[in-house]
Amino acid sequence: MNRAKLTTLKGVGDKTAALFAKLGIETVDDLLHDYPRVYDVCEPPVAVKELADGPVQAVTGQLVKDASLRRFKSMQIVVVTLRDLSGSVQLTWYNMPYIRTQLPAGRVLTARGRVARKNGRLVMEQPELFSVEDYETEQRVMRPVYGQTRGLGNKAITRLVRQALEERELEREYLPADLRRRYELAEYNYAIERIHFPADRQELLAARRRLVFDEFLFFLLSVRRLRGQRENQRSDFVMRPAPEADRLMRELPYELTGAQKKVIEEIRADLEGGFVMNRLVQGDVGSGKTVIAVLAMLEAAQNGFQSALMAPTEVLARQHYENITTLFAEHAVNARVILLTGSMTAKQKREARAAIAAHEADLIIGTHALIQEKVAYDRLALVITDEQHRFGVGQREVLGEKGAHPHILVMSATPIPRTLAIILYGDLDISVIDELPARRLPIKNCVVDTGWRENAWRFIAREVAASHQAYVICPMVEESELIEAENVIDYTKLLRKKLPEGITVEYLHGRQKPKDKNRIMERFAAGEIQVLVSTTVVEVGVDVPNATVMMIENAERFGLAQLHQLRGRVGRGSSQSYCIMVNVSGEEEARERLDILNRSNDGFYIASEDLKLRGPGDFFGLRQSGDMEFKLADIFTDAALLKTVSEEVNRLLENDPQLALEENRELGRRLEEYENRGSGLNL
Ligand code: ADP
Ligand code: MG
Repeated sequence: MNRAKLTTLKGVGDKTAALFAKLGIETVDDLLHDYPRVYDVCEPPVAVKELADGPVQAVTGQLVKDASLRRFKSMQIVVVTLRDLSGSVQLTWYNMPYIRTQLPAGRVLTARGRVARKNGRLVMEQPELFSVEDYETEQRVMRPVYGQTRGLGNKAITRLVRQALEERELEREYLPADLRRRYELAEYNYAIERIHFPADRQELLAARRRLVFDEFLFFLLSVRRLRGQRENQRSDFVMRPAPEADRLMRELPYELTGAQKKVIEEIRADLEGGFVMNRLVQGDVGSGKTVIAVLAMLEAAQNGFQSALMAPTEVLARQHYENITTLFAEHAVNARVILLTGSMTAKQKREARAAIAAHEADLIIGTHALIQEKVAYDRLALVITDEQHRFGVGQREVLGEKGAHPHILVMSATPIPRTLAIILYGDLDISVIDELPARRLPIKNCVVDTGWRENAWRFIAREVAASHQAYVICPMVEESELIEAENVIDYTKLLRKKLPEGITVEYLHGRQKPKDKNRIMERFAAGEIQVLVSTTVVEVGVDVPNATVMMIENAERFGLAQLHQLRGRVGRGSSQSYCIMVNVSGEEEARERLDILNRSNDGFYIASEDLKLRGPGDFFGLRQSGDMEFKLADIFTDAALLKTVSEEVNRLLENDPQLALEENRELGRRLEEYENRGSGLNL
């Protein structure tokens, strides 16, 4: 594993390294594991007269005249006309005057680029140029397209990945030979190389299969080992029933659903039963998981114990904190709540840690900071993770005091079928909330083309006039050369122009400073921002019941389960809510897939229909859910492989529980590394 800084690569200075850091890439190893988002495959050239406005296309033809250079304002524009038997098309480049030397009259070439209609005629903008022979080769190649950021384009990333691959030291194969043989798994180094640069689809599939196999393998090995440690463990924190929790339950502004009551009973039975609880609460978006967590934490507080609630994002942690504080104040509940997140100032964190250590806080709400900030808890009896569970074994030790084992509750909205849940959460008991609160109006959905945007904006303006709020989701943070999709920053500018004055439009994305994100989210929750343009960072758990419109740009780019999560951000209050999905691709197939969401609000149904339509193995560019910490694996489309790996893990651990045999030793070493990194593992 190459932990060397990126600056050890040729051509990477501090500036480039800082750009990579924005993408979460710090080391050469990070770069090698930053897998392509999608692969760009060159399509066969079409005749000029078949060119259409919009997509990237290629044409082969002859240049009519030498290219000319025009100036427009401060821009230099190179223009040339390409002709084939069916007609001619203009090619243009902006601020690339040097390209003229490649464009002598009479040259025959293939140009590939996006075609747009300008003043009534079709123009290919910024095309790439190939010799006719080169383009033929090019059509078989799958070019990687990486996540990018301004100033760091795909070409630069691709070049560095290539360099890193060439210069890397090969890693020792760690899978037992027998496993590799039986499942015909590609060798590790080969897989890493070909996931970036596959010569064809076959190679890509082979590389991906190996890497997915590994992701499942490490994940399941950890889970199984945990189960061994957990079974029938006596608890140091046996609780008594808490009258305050009962009172709060009675006084809630709504009646708990039957399913919520059942799950709370299961949890309380665990807490009061004498053994350590290890429970997963699975419930669709909006099923009301938070209140369950709160009641459990309150019971712990009443018993003199601390409890911690860990959320995957700052935004969500803060929101939980605000909601719980308000709820307790309104009902005069006597329990102290404290917040601890990474973006707090050093002083605030110090004070929070001191309060926790002195047991001046009962409910501790936060993010990863809860395990990263060396917090000394006082009788921490219950740990809840909300929506995500990326806490490793190593980190788990940090939480409990030496030798003490807190009760564990994991809350998830990922709609996984029971058979898969049993594999993935093999170490947990499972409670299911299979009922949504009554009195909710079903969300009205529509799938539209880009032509309908203006209507959608008018609709949003009307909802805002009626004191509601709206989300607009774009897949990208900022403009990118190769991934053609709406981005948050430009879209915000556009909306500020298009929406009536007085409507506050702001944006939110994962690369903002946590402080800025918090501020934006707080203002949105307080109704100071009416329209929030965001990436999928709002996907997880955010609860602003006054928001009634969810508009999703490039909806075709998201997995259905993810869209379902996004849609779950609205329809949380008593007003009618709407979900507008814009199928930017305009493709019929995409529309069919999106129509599944139109038909149903049931996460399980949606996930299974999506799978039917896409078929297993059809996964490029689509991820079902960010809930699990897998980079490549998709628990739905890779379900069959998941089952296989699960059986292998059982067999492996049965024969060699400590992974101490010669043929398993390297695997054992890797597993330790994996667990210490703390990725991919539920607590
Ligand atoms: P999720 O399961 O997605 O985490 P939340 O816990 O955020 O859902 O709950 C969604 C919304 O529904 C919240 O505003 C919450 O106050 C409300 N809610 C929870 N339970 C009920 C219920 N039984 N009846 C009505 N509203 C409820
Ligand atoms: Mg939630």
